[in-house]
Amino acid sequence: MDPATVILMLAIHLLASSGLMALVWRRMPAAPGLGRWALASGLFGAAYLARLLAGLQGVDALGLASDGTMLLAVLLFGDGVREFVGRLPMPPRRVGLLALLMFGAEVAAAQVGGAQARHVALNAMIGLLYAQIAWILATERRRQGAPLQAPLALLVGIVGGLSALTLLRGAHIAQAGMPVAFHGPMAKVYYLFASVTAVVTALTLVWMMLLRLNGQLADLATRDALTGVFNRNGLAQALKQHFGQRQAVPLTLLLVDIDHFKRINDTLGHATGDAVLQVVACELTAQLRTGDFVARIGGEEFLIGCVGADPAVALALADRLRRTIGRLQVPAAVGSERVGCTASIGVSAAFDRFDGWEPAAAQADEALYRAKAAGRDGVQSHLATLGT
Ligand code: GH3
Ligand code: MG
Ligand code: MG
Repeated sequence: MDPATVILMLAIHLLASSGLMALVWRRMPAAPGLGRWALASGLFGAAYLARLLAGLQGVDALGLASDGTMLLAVLLFGDGVREFVGRLPMPPRRVGLLALLMFGAEVAAAQVGGAQARHVALNAMIGLLYAQIAWILATERRRQGAPLQAPLALLVGIVGGLSALTLLRGAHIAQAGMPVAFHGPMAKVYYLFASVTAVVTALTLVWMMLLRLNGQLADLATRDALTGVFNRNGLAQALKQHFGQRQAVPLTLLLVDIDHFKRINDTLGHATGDAVLQVVACELTAQLRTGDFVARIGGEEFLIGCVGADPAVALALADRLRRTIGRLQVPAAVGSERVGCTASIGVSAAFDRFDGWEPAAAQADEALYRAKAAGRDGVQSHLATLGT
């Protein structure tokens, strides 16, 4: 296939991908990166079309416009990556300014060294921009969750490959002159790689969006919106997952209830009450060991699944949590006051099957009732009732 046909197909694909991504982006309330990628893909497509027209009719102004558009497209693609991985994207004005500066450098190169220097400069700049994007993807990959590892690794390979090929192409043009820019094996390899990766990249970007959306949906269904710990649904899943393991160890439940929480709401307002709940949830999560989990199962009630059957270990954990909560000083939502609180905790007996969790929760509830009756800010165990 001659390069002109490959470039045409590449341009059509990029424009179609741009349309698809723009449609998805408009429908999604939050899709970081997708809007910039849609724009970048559209600009890439337009740049390739312009390149084709410039090549066919020999209009140099159109060729230069194509190069400027391509620089802007690569910058926008990188900015979309930044936004997706949670880095601050560049303000649009800075993106435009950078694109203009690079374009100026290319025009200057063209003035000094003609078409060859112009193409060498363009390939060098685009190759370096791709290298920077591949670097961001590779470093940020470690921070992203497990489901995103595969598509991000694929993107690192694609963008890294594009960077290497673009830089090589620039060096080749510098050495062998303009004829190799659009003809010969190097040009063929370059445009073939660009075409295949354009298809794969667009699909990978949408794949990443869907994976992230899927994670957000799972979180919405299983996490409490205020505190971020499990809700009842998440608790059931965590319990099922725990007892689904081949050699599941027994669990003990701890029911934590903040003392006189209503007073905090009544004296300092609901927003301060919410802040207390958030801080308590955060502290509980921070104190847990691997395998333990925490769920908010009522207004100011948290249920903790504690791995292990040793009553002394569960009691020690409960008492540590009680003391931690007692030390908290949460800033009030309004004013400079700080609010403290205490909690009472009921501990169940250990159980070793999923079915056992509801009876265990009732045991913890009964023990919690005794802790409240004993004056609050204390821990009681179900086993104490049994005299063990
Ligand atoms: P006790 O020591 O007996 O546990 O007393 P308490 O005041 O903590 O318990 P009570 O059940 O009387 O009050 C719980 C309060 O929690 C009442 C309710 O308005 C409040 N609450 C429930 N959900 C939320 C919430 O999401 N945010 C805030 N700020 N308050 C909540
Ligand atoms: Mg309560
Ligand atoms: Mg309470």
